[in-house]
Amino acid sequence: MRILIVEDEAFIANFLRDGLEEEGFAVDVADNGKKGLQLAFDSMDEYDVILLDWMLPGMSGIEICRNIRLENKTVPIIFLTAKDTVDDVVFGLKTGANDYIRKPFSFEELLARIQVLMRKNETESVVFSALGIEMNIEKHTVTKNSRQIEFTQKEFSLLEYLLRNKGKVCRRTRIIEKVWDIHFDYDNSVIDVYINALRKKLDEPGKPSVITTVRGVGYKIETDE
Ligand code: CA
Repeated sequence: MRILIVEDEAFIANFLRDGLEEEGFAVDVADNGKKGLQLAFDSMDEYDVILLDWMLPGMSGIEICRNIRLENKTVPIIFLTAKDTVDDVVFGLKTGANDYIRKPFSFEELLARIQVLMRKNETESVVFSALGIEMNIEKHTVTKNSRQIEFTQKEFSLLEYLLRNKGKVCRRTRIIEKVWDIHFDYDNSVIDVYINALRKKLDEPGKPSVITTVRGVGYKIETDE
């Protein structure tokens, strides 16, 4: 799951990035309005949530929100701002934001609101399963044939992406975009390392891997049918 943060105060941006990365999100940060809009437009379909500061150098969060909504009606947008009058909140929501959080805010509250928005935006269930693997996004658990398995955050995100797209080939470039962030240096071998880690935890000796390699393209988890 990938989040864009548009925030010019480095302290807040870093705090958010660290916290969200710990929760398993891939995070991109823009420190001014124009860069924020650029990133949003470059990867519009990749972001699961966009966090927007209101007062930004270059272009205001309001303008960014308006521009995003011209192209994309559904990506959840949350304003994070010190502007705190009722008029500000109403104006922000009318511009097309889904939620509005006044600074200073608690990280726990922000995280809860992000989760609510992602749930609303989700058309499918929060449980994904295939080939004996069952992943519960809300409980953050994975079992294989009812045995619980522990994963690191990145492993969990990668498996989630493969399971969400089960039956389809997940291209390496798409995996990078969705599970890692823009600072990822496109060293493709990192994906292989993580795929191997997943296989080690999920595969059974003498049986074919639950993750199929599609040579030169990417990876795939088959459906049960
Ligand atoms: Ca600001």
